[in-house]
Amino acid sequence: MVPRVSVRELVILGTASQVPTRRRNHNGYLLRWDTEGLLFDPGDGTQRQLVHAGVAASDINRILLTHFHGDHCLGLPGVVQRLSLDRVAHPVHAHFPATGQGYFDRLRHASPFHDTLDLREVPVTADGHLADTPAGAIEARRLDHPEPAYGYRLVEPDGRRMRADLLAARGIGGPDVGRLQRDGALDGVTLDEVSEPRPGQRFAFVMDTRLCDAVYALAEGADLLVIESTFLDSERRLAHDYGHLTAAQAARVAASCGVRRLVLTHFSQRYDDPAAFEAEARVHFDGDLVVAEDLMRVPVPPRRMVGRPGAGDT
Ligand SMILES: [Zn+2]
Repeated sequence: MVPRVSVRELVILGTASQVPTRRRNHNGYLLRWDTEGLLFDPGDGTQRQLVHAGVAASDINRILLTHFHGDHCLGLPGVVQRLSLDRVAHPVHAHFPATGQGYFDRLRHASPFHDTLDLREVPVTADGHLADTPAGAIEARRLDHPEPAYGYRLVEPDGRRMRADLLAARGIGGPDVGRLQRDGALDGVTLDEVSEPRPGQRFAFVMDTRLCDAVYALAEGADLLVIESTFLDSERRLAHDYGHLTAAQAARVAASCGVRRLVLTHFSQRYDDPAAFEAEARVHFDGDLVVAEDLMRVPVPPRRMVGRPGAGDT
């Protein structure tokens, strides 16, 4: 078995909203976060997009649905049956609005198959903490959309990074490093003296919604924000009526929340030119901006460094 490389990136499987186009599949996003794989909103065709993207079913640990409009969930039967066919041995957790349990049950068992999957359902009933994972804590927030919808964010706890130079200066090496990390001190040397803060990273996923407080709460301080911009601002009345955002609104959210890398997606089929979304967003947001295309890979930006300009790691 090939060991997994430690990597944090978003694999974009689809970027269309209601109607797929020749170039855009229905939604679908796989977040690789070290050893974890989080699949968000698998729309129709997601199973095949996973093949195109070189993602194995066994890479998926968790499936998160924002809501039950078809472009966000019609790929679930294929993904579930593929996980089973490939005899994925680890448990797969699934999150979705609890009010849609009936829809989930039908998608989960849409047609007969030999079911070997250990699928653990953890429906979302309220705002707040949802699960602790090896990647960090997952939180949910209710969005403002005609169908009950939740956005998600992943919050990695802050930690500390050991500094090889400071350890060496105090003659600490080998198994003593582990002891110091475990106990917080060793022979009068404290952990703080030989390490530095390592800020946790954040990922946020905001799909179908009007502008509301939850959008800001999810996006706050995100290293990587994936957010719908179904419409351009010229159609902002339509966006409001249908419960969606415009590129300008999404970009203003990103700017006011200190987002580092912004990914716009979920585009209406009425627009031919993705450059229009970039131009509109650019007026409001001067950070990293990505107008999503199918099968793009977007890295989570390198970790923010504290107190050591120029230093960097993942
Ligand atoms: Zn929707």
